[in-house]
Amino acid sequence: MKDTQIKKLIEAEKKRQKKVINLIPSENYLSKDVLEALGSELNDKYCEGYPGRRYYGGNGIMDKIELLCIDRALKAFKLDPKEWHVNVQPHSGSPANLAVYLACVPKEGKIMGMSLAHGGHLTHGHKVSATGKLWTQIPYGLEPVTEVLNYDQLREMAMKEKPVIIVAGYTAYSRFIDWAKMREIADAGNSLLMVDMSHIAGLVAGGAYPSPFPFADIVTTTTHKTLRGPRSAIIFMRKDERELDKKIDKAVFPGLQGGPHMNQIAAVAVTLKEASSPSFKKYAAQVVKNTKVLADELHKYGWRVVSGGTDSHLFLLDTWNNGVNNEKGAGGVSGKDASDKLEKEGIIVNKNAIPFDTRPPADPSGIRLGSAAETTRGRKEKDFKAIAKRIDKILRKA
Ligand SMILES: *Cc1c(COP(=O)(O)O)cnc(C)c1O
Repeated sequence: MKDTQIKKLIEAEKKRQKKVINLIPSENYLSKDVLEALGSELNDKYCEGYPGRRYYGGNGIMDKIELLCIDRALKAFKLDPKEWHVNVQPHSGSPANLAVYLACVPKEGKIMGMSLAHGGHLTHGHKVSATGKLWTQIPYGLEPVTEVLNYDQLREMAMKEKPVIIVAGYTAYSRFIDWAKMREIADAGNSLLMVDMSHIAGLVAGGAYPSPFPFADIVTTTTHKTLRGPRSAIIFMRKDERELDKKIDKAVFPGLQGGPHMNQIAAVAVTLKEASSPSFKKYAAQVVKNTKVLADELHKYGWRVVSGGTDSHLFLLDTWNNGVNNEKGAGGVSGKDASDKLEKEGIIVNKNAIPFDTRPPADPSGIRLGSAAETTRGRKEKDFKAIAKRIDKILRKA
């Protein structure tokens, strides 16, 4: 690279990534093959439209790439192409969700989504997001003591509010989601069920987390978290007389976007092939094992794990725990302090609100921890035991 300034910064970031222990659950490390597709000449081509229906000439190869990506998406999640339609063009997770609402929810219509404070994503109708400005969020949350979903309460809410769409799938929820119950809840409100599996997509592909596909009308996902691909997103839509497929395709293009990023789509195709392999199945299982070890060990040292455990690649740790050290001497550190202290010692996490947090979002009561990135680097249970020990030591002397 002739641009020495950027080259130096890339080298510096590569070095930083090598040096730290990365416990951010939404990050991962890509294969060389995925990066190669991402950094390829495919970037240079304009191909507004869909395969076979482009607005530019010269797109024969691009059509093949997009169709291959769609085919691999169906295979990775074991879907029947007669039942599911796939759009691989969304530039990222937020525009994918926006496209679904644009297609399905009338202006100011109701989106029932988990509140940001309890682990929902901004794009599930939060007021600072376009999704909260254009539509009306019916927010739901978790149970106070157990810190898990209360399906009975959700059913009542859906029956009362009759939202156009219900969004399930979150950014900081560690437990299995009962997709069948979510389906019943959506039916009770006569609502569409959209599952945003951005965080757990890799676990679903690897068979380590229940698949939402048998129950959802629409599934959206980012491709860069546990799925271990480039920053991008996919929308899956059920094919039936409701024509969700046609409406959502139109909302993506021309509704929201222009030309698709074909280098990104090719990189997603490479990702999906990797995610369909036996070694990825092992990876997904290892991610869950590692997360459980990390949570269990921290719990043994006296730290409070939100909801008491995890079924996935992440969990929340209540480092503040009402501001006092418990009998094991753990607690009393705010989320921001915890994150700062850990970063000084080379462990990267993100501060995160816990359900019913009494502290402000800028300095909440907890941190969010995950194992996806470090598992990619080959770390196993014994390594996560050691990481837990270090975390305890660092936070304890805080
Ligand atoms: C990460 C995430 C998104 C948004 O993805 P971006 O690519 O950052 O826009 C949407 N929904 C959920 C649940 C996510 O975790």
